[in-house]
Amino acid sequence: MDFSWTDEQEIWRKTVRDFAQKKIKPRVREIDTNKKIPKEIIKEMGKLGLLAPTASQKYGGSGVDWTMASIAAEELGRADISLAVPVLYLVEAAWGFILSQYGTDEVKSEYLPKITSGEAFCGIAVTEPEGGSDIVGAAKTTAMKKGKNWILNGEKIFISGITESSNWGGVHLTLARTDPSKAHKGFSFFAVPLKDNQNIETTLFEDMGRMGISTGGFKMDNVELPKYHLIGKLDRGFYYAMEGFSAARILIGATCVGASEAALDLGIDHIKTRNAFGRPLGSFEGIQFPLAEHYCNIDAIKLQTYRAAWTIDKMYRGKKCTHHDVAIAAAISKLRAPIYAFGVMNEVADWLGALGYTKEYPIEMGIRGVRSYSIGAEGTMNIMRIIISRELLGKKFLPYK
Ligand SMILES: Cc1cc2nc3c(=O)[nH]c(=O)nc-3n(C[C@H](O)[C@H](O)[C@H](O)COP(=O)(O)OP(=O)(O)OC[C@H]3O[C@@H](n4cnc5c(N)ncnc54)[C@H](O)[C@@H]3O)c2cc1C
Repeated sequence: MDFSWTDEQEIWRKTVRDFAQKKIKPRVREIDTNKKIPKEIIKEMGKLGLLAPTASQKYGGSGVDWTMASIAAEELGRADISLAVPVLYLVEAAWGFILSQYGTDEVKSEYLPKITSGEAFCGIAVTEPEGGSDIVGAAKTTAMKKGKNWILNGEKIFISGITESSNWGGVHLTLARTDPSKAHKGFSFFAVPLKDNQNIETTLFEDMGRMGISTGGFKMDNVELPKYHLIGKLDRGFYYAMEGFSAARILIGATCVGASEAALDLGIDHIKTRNAFGRPLGSFEGIQFPLAEHYCNIDAIKLQTYRAAWTIDKMYRGKKCTHHDVAIAAAISKLRAPIYAFGVMNEVADWLGALGYTKEYPIEMGIRGVRSYSIGAEGTMNIMRIIISRELLGKKFLPYK
């Protein structure tokens, strides 16, 4: 066992950290207030290879593995604890990868170079109005063959990047039923462009946090797609979705690690310098004990998250680890990381006293942002618990057939 980073990983971390601390961190409040990530930041991320970095180099990606992708996620989380930039990063890293792995050459050539350079967006559209956790039971969206093309009808909701995709262009990888008789084995994945599509009506939600990236929905009314927009094999969409979710959950873990470390550093600076009763706050055990607890939690989620990244890297290199190993490792990270991140941010807000309740400090942005992940983006906490329990008890004990 070796817990050290390679030279390549250290150089990559330093490159991303230097960029993120200099170009993103000073603008996080502006991003949160203006509800958008400045395009020059996106373009610079593209130049550094930070947009869909896991996509193949042939289509403009950096072809990095998931450990490298997690290092970048951690550094982006450290710089932007509102989590807007990290969300954009991780959604594109996970779903740009699926597009790169399974998309046709035509769809990849058309969209990936624009996604990796920051001209277009790549998102994921699974959730529907009747439910996200039980998508197999809830999904109404259909895709039917018409000649050589596909016709999609249905509605997707709570989808990240609706404004980005509608304005910049790009695609949302969209899950639709292609064989209603087959439950989860009857879904396929399609690359759906939202921009300038007369047959798509978009909506937006006013979110609690991570304001720099939009959340909304879209209705498809006879949306016609050329056949090359089918991602991978017919009726395999559910499996591609699960593959992408596992990857995304690992990056969420890494993002939360970075944001937690940033929050704890901020708290440490404060308790070292703020005095009460003639002593620094940090000299009271009532402050030190939670400090030690939060430090241990962050250390634990960091280890769990990079173990998950290691597991997925092993799987893609064909070495022992399976999709099940990845799913469970990713679920552990996703279950713990947002909760611990929320916990440390909440604690630091307490240490700051009244300042913690103001917009003078970024903590409130972190608390609002990280809640998206403990509520449910990329799968709710209970769904993570179900994935873990399924591994422990076997499929017979699943709460559904
Ligand atoms: C900020 C944000 C961004 C998002 N972005 C995207 C996106 O880009 N693309 C996308 O497809 N989706 C996205 N989502 C949707 C997300 O995937 C869903 O919210 C999630 O899957 C839960 O679905 P739901 O909201 O319909 O809640 P429900 O499925 O209705 O669940 C409600 C509650 O019931 C619990 N529950 C459900 N089933 C069980 C069970 N069997 N046992 C115990 N408890 C259970 C859940 O854990 C949850 O607490 C986003 C969500 C958020 C908050």
